[in-house]
Amino acid sequence: MSGTVVMKFGGTSVADAERIKRAARRIVAKREEGLRVVAVLSARGKTTDELISWAQEISPHPDPREMDMLLSTGERQSCALCAMAINDLGHRAISLTGSQAGIVTDTSHTKARILEVRADRIREALDDGRIVLVAGFQGVSTAKDVTTLGRGGSDTTAVALAAAIDADECEIYTDVSGVFSADPRIVPDARKLPMVSFEEMLEMSASGAGVLQLRSVEYARNHGVRIHCRSSFDDAPGTVVVGEDVTVENPLITAVTHSTGEARVTLTGVPDTPGVAGRLATVLAEANVNVDMIVQNEPVSEGAGADMSFTVPRDDLHTARTALEPLAAELGIGVHADESMGKVSVVGAGMKTHPGVAAKVFTVLGEAGINIEMISTSPIRISCVVPGDKVPEAVRALHSAFELSGPDTIRPEQPFGEFAS
Ligand code: ADP
Ligand code: ASP
Ligand code: MG
Repeated sequence: MSGTVVMKFGGTSVADAERIKRAARRIVAKREEGLRVVAVLSARGKTTDELISWAQEISPHPDPREMDMLLSTGERQSCALCAMAINDLGHRAISLTGSQAGIVTDTSHTKARILEVRADRIREALDDGRIVLVAGFQGVSTAKDVTTLGRGGSDTTAVALAAAIDADECEIYTDVSGVFSADPRIVPDARKLPMVSFEEMLEMSASGAGVLQLRSVEYARNHGVRIHCRSSFDDAPGTVVVGEDVTVENPLITAVTHSTGEARVTLTGVPDTPGVAGRLATVLAEANVNVDMIVQNEPVSEGAGADMSFTVPRDDLHTARTALEPLAAELGIGVHADESMGKVSVVGAGMKTHPGVAAKVFTVLGEAGINIEMISTSPIRISCVVPGDKVPEAVRALHSAFELSGPDTIRPEQPFGEFAS
Protein backbone atom coordinates (compact mmCIF):
# COMPACT_ATOMS: atom_id res chain seq x y z
CA MET A 1 0.00 0.00 0.00
CA SER A 2 1.17 3.54 -0.68
CA GLY A 3 2.45 5.80 2.05
CA THR A 4 0.63 8.48 3.97
CA VAL A 5 1.72 12.05 4.54
CA VAL A 6 0.41 14.91 6.64
CA MET A 7 0.97 18.38 5.13
CA LYS A 8 0.37 21.42 7.34
CA PHE A 9 0.06 24.92 5.86
CA GLY A 10 0.42 27.93 8.16
CA GLY A 11 -1.52 31.18 8.04
CA THR A 12 0.74 33.05 5.59
CA SER A 13 0.66 30.06 3.25
CA VAL A 14 -3.14 30.26 2.88
CA ALA A 15 -3.52 34.02 3.32
CA ASP A 16 -5.46 34.75 0.11
CA ALA A 17 -7.24 32.96 -2.73
CA GLU A 18 -4.08 32.59 -4.82
CA ARG A 19 -2.17 31.02 -1.94
CA ILE A 20 -4.99 28.63 -1.11
CA LYS A 21 -4.97 27.52 -4.74
CA ARG A 22 -1.19 27.13 -4.58
CA ALA A 23 -1.49 24.98 -1.43
CA ALA A 24 -4.22 22.97 -3.19
CA ARG A 25 -1.89 22.33 -6.13
CA ARG A 26 0.87 21.15 -3.80
CA ILE A 27 -1.52 18.84 -1.99
CA VAL A 28 -2.80 17.43 -5.28
CA ALA A 29 0.76 16.92 -6.55
CA LYS A 30 1.46 14.71 -3.50
CA ARG A 31 -1.71 12.76 -4.10
CA GLU A 32 -0.68 12.26 -7.72
CA GLU A 33 2.61 10.77 -6.50
CA GLY A 34 0.39 8.02 -5.12
CA LEU A 35 0.40 9.12 -1.47
CA ARG A 36 -2.59 9.30 0.85
CA VAL A 37 -2.78 12.92 1.95
CA VAL A 38 -4.15 14.59 5.06
CA ALA A 39 -3.67 18.37 5.02
CA VAL A 40 -4.00 20.52 8.12
CA LEU A 41 -4.62 24.20 7.52
CA SER A 42 -4.30 27.27 9.71
CA ALA A 43 -6.58 30.28 9.62
CA ARG A 44 -5.85 32.67 6.77
CA GLY A 45 -3.24 35.38 7.35
CA LYS A 46 -4.04 37.37 10.46
CA THR A 47 -7.54 35.93 10.88
CA THR A 48 -6.92 34.59 14.40
CA ASP A 49 -5.58 37.98 15.55
CA GLU A 50 -8.64 39.65 14.03
CA LEU A 51 -11.03 37.27 15.75
CA ILE A 52 -9.28 37.98 19.06
CA SER A 53 -9.64 41.72 18.52
CA TRP A 54 -13.33 41.31 17.67
CA ALA A 55 -13.81 39.58 21.01
CA GLN A 56 -11.90 42.32 22.81
CA GLU A 57 -14.13 44.96 21.25
CA ILE A 58 -17.07 43.21 22.86
CA SER A 59 -15.66 42.15 26.22
CA PRO A 60 -12.42 42.89 28.10
CA HIS A 61 -12.07 39.31 29.35
CA PRO A 62 -14.15 37.06 27.14
CA ASP A 63 -15.42 33.72 28.38
CA PRO A 64 -12.82 31.16 27.23
CA ARG A 65 -15.47 28.72 26.03
CA GLU A 66 -17.00 31.31 23.74
CA MET A 67 -13.54 32.43 22.66
CA ASP A 68 -12.90 28.91 21.38
CA MET A 69 -16.20 28.84 19.49
CA LEU A 70 -15.07 32.03 17.78
CA LEU A 71 -11.40 31.18 17.16
CA SER A 72 -12.11 27.74 15.73
CA THR A 73 -13.94 29.31 12.78
CA GLY A 74 -10.75 30.68 11.18
CA GLU A 75 -9.28 27.31 10.30
CA ARG A 76 -12.64 25.97 9.15
CA GLN A 77 -12.82 28.71 6.52
CA SER A 78 -9.40 27.75 5.15
CA CYS A 79 -10.27 24.07 4.92
CA ALA A 80 -13.60 24.55 3.19
CA LEU A 81 -12.02 26.94 0.67
CA CYS A 82 -9.09 24.64 -0.01
CA ALA A 83 -11.44 21.67 -0.45
CA MET A 84 -13.26 23.66 -3.14
CA ALA A 85 -9.95 24.39 -4.89
CA ILE A 86 -8.93 20.71 -4.78
CA ASN A 87 -12.29 19.60 -6.16
CA ASP A 88 -11.78 22.02 -9.06
CA LEU A 89 -8.45 20.35 -9.77
CA GLY A 90 -10.33 17.11 -10.40
CA HIS A 91 -9.69 15.39 -7.07
CA ARG A 92 -12.13 14.56 -4.31
CA ALA A 93 -11.56 16.41 -1.05
CA ILE A 94 -13.43 16.54 2.24
CA SER A 95 -12.92 19.15 4.94
CA LEU A 96 -13.38 18.26 8.60
CA THR A 97 -13.45 20.28 11.80
CA GLY A 98 -11.13 19.17 14.59
CA SER A 99 -14.09 17.53 16.27
CA GLN A 100 -15.13 15.67 13.12
CA ALA A 101 -11.53 14.56 12.70
CA GLY A 102 -11.73 12.92 16.14
CA ILE A 103 -9.37 15.20 18.06
CA VAL A 104 -10.36 14.86 21.70
CA THR A 105 -8.86 17.31 24.19
CA ASP A 106 -9.03 18.21 27.84
CA THR A 107 -11.29 21.08 28.93
CA SER A 108 -8.66 23.87 29.23
CA HIS A 109 -10.22 26.35 26.84
CA THR A 110 -7.83 28.37 24.62
CA LYS A 111 -4.91 26.07 25.47
CA ALA A 112 -6.34 22.59 25.44
CA ARG A 113 -4.20 19.48 25.27
CA ILE A 114 -4.92 16.62 22.92
CA LEU A 115 -5.83 13.49 24.88
CA GLU A 116 -6.74 11.16 22.07
CA VAL A 117 -7.23 11.08 18.30
CA ARG A 118 -10.08 8.91 17.01
CA ALA A 119 -9.07 8.92 13.37
CA ASP A 120 -11.61 6.43 11.95
CA ARG A 121 -13.39 9.01 9.86
CA ILE A 122 -10.10 10.20 8.35
CA ARG A 123 -9.07 6.62 7.58
CA GLU A 124 -12.41 5.89 5.92
CA ALA A 125 -12.14 9.01 3.75
CA LEU A 126 -8.56 8.10 2.78
CA ASP A 127 -9.63 4.53 1.95
CA ASP A 128 -12.31 6.08 -0.23
CA GLY A 129 -9.57 7.88 -2.20
CA ARG A 130 -10.26 11.32 -0.81
CA ILE A 131 -7.86 14.06 0.20
CA VAL A 132 -8.71 14.97 3.80
CA LEU A 133 -8.47 18.56 5.02
CA VAL A 134 -8.52 19.05 8.77
CA ALA A 135 -9.05 22.39 10.49
CA GLY A 136 -5.96 22.90 12.65
CA PHE A 137 -5.72 24.30 16.19
CA GLN A 138 -8.95 22.76 17.51
CA GLY A 139 -10.66 19.77 18.97
CA VAL A 140 -13.60 18.74 21.09
CA SER A 141 -13.27 18.43 24.83
CA THR A 142 -14.28 15.53 27.02
CA ALA A 143 -17.19 17.84 28.01
CA LYS A 144 -18.21 18.01 24.30
CA ASP A 145 -17.25 21.67 23.86
CA VAL A 146 -15.13 23.09 21.06
CA THR A 147 -11.59 23.81 22.25
CA THR A 148 -8.49 25.40 20.73
CA LEU A 149 -4.91 24.31 21.27
CA GLY A 150 -3.06 27.57 21.96
CA ARG A 151 -1.35 29.91 19.47
CA GLY A 152 0.48 27.97 16.80
CA GLY A 153 -1.63 24.92 17.64
CA SER A 154 -2.11 23.74 14.07
CA ASP A 155 1.41 22.32 14.22
CA THR A 156 0.26 20.07 17.04
CA THR A 157 -2.88 19.03 15.17
CA ALA A 158 -0.68 17.98 12.26
CA VAL A 159 1.74 15.98 14.39
CA ALA A 160 -1.06 14.30 16.38
CA LEU A 161 -2.79 13.24 13.16
CA ALA A 162 0.49 12.00 11.72
CA ALA A 163 0.92 9.82 14.81
CA ALA A 164 -2.68 8.57 14.72
CA ILE A 165 -2.66 7.53 11.07
CA ASP A 166 0.95 6.37 11.16
CA ALA A 167 2.09 8.83 8.47
CA ASP A 168 5.62 8.55 7.12
CA GLU A 169 6.25 12.25 7.64
CA CYS A 170 4.61 15.38 8.98
CA GLU A 171 5.49 18.26 6.66
CA ILE A 172 5.10 21.72 8.16
CA TYR A 173 4.89 24.23 5.30
CA THR A 174 5.56 27.77 6.46
CA ASP A 175 6.76 31.21 5.39
CA VAL A 176 10.45 30.55 6.04
CA SER A 177 12.46 27.71 4.50
CA GLY A 178 13.09 25.85 7.75
CA VAL A 179 14.34 26.27 11.28
CA PHE A 180 17.12 28.86 11.44
CA SER A 181 19.90 29.71 13.86
CA ALA A 182 17.77 32.74 14.86
CA ASP A 183 14.51 34.25 13.69
CA PRO A 184 15.43 35.35 10.13
CA ARG A 185 13.20 38.39 10.55
CA ILE A 186 15.63 39.68 13.17
CA VAL A 187 18.87 38.18 11.89
CA PRO A 188 18.77 38.23 8.07
CA ASP A 189 21.96 36.16 7.76
CA ALA A 190 20.78 33.42 10.12
CA ARG A 191 21.69 29.92 8.95
CA LYS A 192 19.14 27.29 7.99
CA LEU A 193 19.65 24.14 10.05
CA PRO A 194 19.33 21.03 7.84
CA MET A 195 18.70 18.97 10.98
CA VAL A 196 17.95 19.75 14.57
CA SER A 197 17.58 17.30 17.44
CA PHE A 198 14.35 16.98 19.41
CA GLU A 199 16.27 18.00 22.52
CA GLU A 200 17.37 21.30 20.98
CA MET A 201 14.10 21.95 19.17
CA LEU A 202 12.17 21.53 22.43
CA GLU A 203 14.35 24.16 24.08
CA MET A 204 14.10 26.43 21.05
CA SER A 205 10.30 26.22 20.86
CA ALA A 206 9.98 26.64 24.62
CA SER A 207 12.09 29.77 24.51
CA GLY A 208 10.22 31.49 21.70
CA ALA A 209 11.05 29.98 18.30
CA GLY A 210 7.40 29.95 17.23
CA VAL A 211 8.19 28.24 13.94
CA LEU A 212 7.12 24.97 15.62
CA GLN A 213 4.71 25.01 18.55
CA LEU A 214 6.32 23.44 21.63
CA ARG A 215 3.61 20.85 22.06
CA SER A 216 4.00 19.66 18.48
CA VAL A 217 7.67 18.93 19.14
CA GLU A 218 6.86 17.14 22.42
CA TYR A 219 4.17 15.09 20.70
CA ALA A 220 6.47 14.18 17.81
CA ARG A 221 9.20 13.03 20.15
CA ASN A 222 6.81 10.99 22.28
CA HIS A 223 5.17 9.32 19.29
CA GLY A 224 8.16 9.01 16.95
CA VAL A 225 6.81 11.37 14.26
CA ARG A 226 9.26 12.73 11.70
CA ILE A 227 8.80 16.49 11.27
CA HIS A 228 10.03 18.23 8.15
CA CYS A 229 9.67 22.01 8.40
CA ARG A 230 9.94 23.68 4.99
CA SER A 231 8.90 26.56 2.78
CA SER A 232 5.48 26.62 1.18
CA PHE A 233 6.93 28.85 -1.55
CA ASP A 234 9.54 26.49 -3.03
CA ASP A 235 10.65 22.86 -3.15
CA ALA A 236 13.98 23.15 -1.33
CA PRO A 237 14.45 20.75 1.58
CA GLY A 238 13.95 22.42 4.94
CA THR A 239 14.78 21.24 8.45
CA VAL A 240 14.19 17.73 9.74
CA VAL A 241 13.76 17.25 13.47
CA VAL A 242 15.63 14.08 14.39
CA GLY A 243 16.54 11.93 17.38
CA GLU A 244 19.71 12.80 19.31
CA ASP A 245 21.45 9.74 17.88
CA VAL A 246 21.12 11.08 14.31
CA THR A 247 22.56 14.58 14.54
CA VAL A 248 26.07 14.63 13.24
CA GLU A 249 27.12 18.14 14.05
CA ASN A 250 27.27 19.08 17.67
CA PRO A 251 28.12 22.73 17.69
CA LEU A 252 28.52 24.55 20.96
CA ILE A 253 25.53 26.78 20.24
CA THR A 254 22.89 25.92 17.67
CA ALA A 255 20.55 28.88 17.88
CA VAL A 256 19.60 32.12 19.56
CA THR A 257 15.90 32.40 20.33
CA HIS A 258 13.79 35.17 21.74
CA SER A 259 10.39 36.14 22.98
CA THR A 260 8.86 39.55 23.43
CA GLY A 261 5.64 38.40 25.02
CA GLU A 262 6.79 38.20 28.62
CA ALA A 263 5.50 39.92 31.72
CA ARG A 264 7.20 39.98 35.09
CA VAL A 265 5.24 39.78 38.31
CA THR A 266 6.98 40.89 41.50
CA LEU A 267 5.57 39.97 44.87
CA THR A 268 6.81 42.03 47.81
CA GLY A 269 6.55 41.29 51.50
CA VAL A 270 6.21 37.55 50.99
CA PRO A 271 6.16 35.93 54.48
CA ASP A 272 9.44 34.09 54.99
CA THR A 273 7.86 30.87 56.24
CA PRO A 274 7.79 27.34 54.82
CA GLY A 275 4.84 26.57 52.54
CA VAL A 276 4.17 30.06 51.20
CA ALA A 277 5.93 29.53 47.86
CA GLY A 278 3.99 26.29 47.44
CA ARG A 279 0.66 28.04 48.05
CA LEU A 280 1.50 30.82 45.58
CA ALA A 281 2.61 28.35 42.91
CA THR A 282 -0.50 26.23 43.50
CA VAL A 283 -2.97 29.07 42.85
CA LEU A 284 -1.12 29.89 39.63
CA ALA A 285 -1.05 26.27 38.52
CA GLU A 286 -4.76 25.89 39.28
CA ALA A 287 -5.44 28.92 37.07
CA ASN A 288 -3.40 27.17 34.33
CA VAL A 289 -0.82 29.97 34.23
CA ASN A 290 2.53 28.91 32.89
CA VAL A 291 5.18 30.35 35.20
CA ASP A 292 8.61 30.51 33.63
CA MET A 293 11.53 32.01 35.55
CA ILE A 294 11.31 32.44 39.30
CA VAL A 295 13.69 34.43 41.49
CA GLN A 296 13.37 34.88 45.24
CA ASN A 297 15.40 37.27 47.37
CA GLU A 298 15.85 36.62 51.07
CA PRO A 299 14.40 39.29 53.37
CA VAL A 300 16.80 42.17 54.01
CA SER A 301 16.27 41.87 57.75
CA GLU A 302 14.70 39.38 60.11
CA GLY A 303 10.92 39.63 60.14
CA ALA A 304 10.78 41.54 56.86
CA GLY A 305 9.11 39.81 53.93
CA ALA A 306 10.97 38.39 50.95
CA ASP A 307 10.62 39.51 47.33
CA MET A 308 9.69 37.01 44.68
CA SER A 309 9.64 37.68 40.93
CA PHE A 310 8.52 35.42 38.13
CA THR A 311 7.73 35.72 34.45
CA VAL A 312 4.51 34.65 32.75
CA PRO A 313 3.33 34.97 29.15
CA ARG A 314 1.90 38.50 28.85
CA ASP A 315 -1.44 37.04 27.76
CA ASP A 316 -1.67 35.24 31.11
CA LEU A 317 -0.95 38.32 33.24
CA HIS A 318 -4.56 39.16 33.96
CA THR A 319 -5.35 35.56 34.91
CA ALA A 320 -2.24 35.43 37.11
CA ARG A 321 -3.17 38.62 38.97
CA THR A 322 -6.76 37.49 39.47
CA ALA A 323 -5.60 34.12 40.76
CA LEU A 324 -3.09 35.66 43.16
CA GLU A 325 -5.32 38.39 44.59
CA PRO A 326 -7.15 36.51 47.38
CA LEU A 327 -3.96 34.88 48.70
CA ALA A 328 -1.96 38.10 48.39
CA ALA A 329 -4.63 39.93 50.41
CA GLU A 330 -4.66 37.19 53.05
CA LEU A 331 -0.86 37.21 53.45
CA GLY A 332 -0.33 40.96 53.02
CA ILE A 333 1.72 40.53 49.83
CA GLY A 334 2.13 43.38 47.33
CA VAL A 335 1.64 42.45 43.66
CA HIS A 336 3.41 44.50 40.94
CA ALA A 337 3.65 43.80 37.23
CA ASP A 338 5.93 44.84 34.41
CA GLU A 339 4.35 44.10 31.06
CA SER A 340 7.18 44.91 28.70
CA MET A 341 9.80 42.26 29.28
CA GLY A 342 11.53 40.12 26.70
CA LYS A 343 13.72 37.06 26.83
CA VAL A 344 16.73 36.01 24.83
CA SER A 345 18.19 32.50 24.97
CA VAL A 346 21.08 30.56 23.54
CA VAL A 347 20.47 26.86 22.89
CA GLY A 348 23.02 24.18 22.07
CA ALA A 349 23.70 20.58 23.02
CA GLY A 350 27.45 21.30 22.97
CA MET A 351 27.00 23.45 26.07
CA LYS A 352 26.79 20.32 28.23
CA THR A 353 30.48 19.69 27.84
CA HIS A 354 31.79 23.23 27.49
CA PRO A 355 31.87 25.61 30.42
CA GLY A 356 32.05 29.33 29.82
CA VAL A 357 28.95 29.84 27.69
CA ALA A 358 27.11 31.73 30.42
CA ALA A 359 30.11 33.99 30.98
CA LYS A 360 30.19 34.81 27.28
CA VAL A 361 26.44 35.47 27.09
CA PHE A 362 26.54 37.85 30.04
CA THR A 363 29.65 39.62 28.74
CA VAL A 364 28.19 40.09 25.26
CA LEU A 365 24.97 41.53 26.64
CA GLY A 366 26.92 43.72 29.05
CA GLU A 367 29.10 45.09 26.27
CA ALA A 368 25.94 45.89 24.31
CA GLY A 369 24.72 47.87 27.31
CA ILE A 370 21.77 45.54 27.88
CA ASN A 371 20.74 44.97 31.47
CA ILE A 372 19.97 41.38 32.45
CA GLU A 373 16.96 41.31 34.78
CA MET A 374 16.63 37.56 35.39
CA ILE A 375 18.49 34.42 34.37
CA SER A 376 17.53 30.78 34.01
CA THR A 377 19.34 27.79 32.60
CA SER A 378 18.90 24.17 31.56
CA PRO A 379 21.75 21.82 30.63
CA ILE A 380 21.52 23.04 27.02
CA ARG A 381 20.03 26.56 27.33
CA ILE A 382 20.82 29.90 28.96
CA SER A 383 18.01 32.46 29.05
CA CYS A 384 18.12 36.09 30.11
CA VAL A 385 15.14 38.34 30.73
CA VAL A 386 15.90 41.78 29.29
CA PRO A 387 13.85 44.92 28.65
CA GLY A 388 11.42 44.18 25.80
CA ASP A 389 12.77 46.90 23.49
CA LYS A 390 16.32 45.50 23.72
CA VAL A 391 15.45 42.05 22.40
CA PRO A 392 16.40 42.46 18.71
CA GLU A 393 19.73 44.02 19.61
CA ALA A 394 20.44 41.25 22.14
CA VAL A 395 19.63 38.52 19.59
CA ARG A 396 21.90 40.06 16.95
CA ALA A 397 24.77 40.56 19.40
CA LEU A 398 24.64 36.93 20.60
CA HIS A 399 24.20 35.50 17.09
CA SER A 400 27.26 37.35 15.93
CA ALA A 401 29.37 36.65 19.05
CA PHE A 402 28.76 32.90 18.71
CA GLU A 403 29.45 33.10 14.96
CA LEU A 404 26.27 31.33 13.96
CA SER A 405 25.94 32.75 10.46
CA GLY A 406 28.14 30.01 8.98
CA PRO A 407 29.21 29.73 5.35
CA ASP A 408 26.11 27.82 4.27
CA THR A 409 23.75 30.56 5.32
CA ILE A 410 20.62 30.22 3.25
CA ARG A 411 18.47 33.27 3.17
CA PRO A 412 14.72 32.73 3.24
CA GLU A 413 13.63 32.35 -0.37
CA GLN A 414 10.64 34.57 0.13
CA PRO A 415 11.61 38.21 0.46
CA PHE A 416 10.21 39.47 3.74
CA GLY A 417 8.80 42.48 1.96
CA GLU A 418 5.99 40.28 0.72
CA PHE A 419 4.69 39.35 4.12
CA ALA A 420 6.52 41.58 6.54
CA SER A 421 4.39 42.23 9.58
P1 ADP B 1 2.88 29.59 10.33
O1 ADP B 1 1.79 30.57 10.17
O2 ADP B 1 3.32 28.98 9.03
O3 ADP B 1 2.59 28.57 11.38
P2 ADP B 1 4.58 31.00 12.18
O4 ADP B 1 4.48 32.47 12.09
O5 ADP B 1 3.86 30.31 13.27
O6 ADP B 1 4.15 30.41 10.76
O7 ADP B 1 6.11 30.53 12.23
C1 ADP B 1 7.01 30.98 11.25
C2 ADP B 1 7.77 32.18 11.76
O8 ADP B 1 8.56 31.78 12.85
C3 ADP B 1 8.76 32.76 10.79
O9 ADP B 1 8.16 33.69 9.92
C4 ADP B 1 9.80 33.39 11.69
O10 ADP B 1 9.66 34.79 11.78
C5 ADP B 1 9.52 32.79 13.05
N1 ADP B 1 10.71 32.22 13.69
C6 ADP B 1 11.11 32.48 14.96
N2 ADP B 1 12.23 31.85 15.24
C7 ADP B 1 12.57 31.15 14.14
C8 ADP B 1 13.66 30.28 13.82
N3 ADP B 1 14.63 30.00 14.70
N4 ADP B 1 13.70 29.74 12.58
C9 ADP B 1 12.73 30.00 11.68
N5 ADP B 1 11.69 30.82 11.92
C10 ADP B 1 11.60 31.39 13.14
N1 ASP C 1 -4.44 30.15 13.75
C1 ASP C 1 -3.83 29.81 15.01
C2 ASP C 1 -2.86 30.91 15.42
O1 ASP C 1 -2.76 31.91 14.74
C3 ASP C 1 -3.19 28.47 15.01
C4 ASP C 1 -2.03 28.31 14.06
O2 ASP C 1 -1.85 29.10 13.13
O3 ASP C 1 -1.30 27.33 14.21
O4 ASP C 1 -2.23 30.79 16.43
MG1 MG D 1 2.77 28.59 13.46
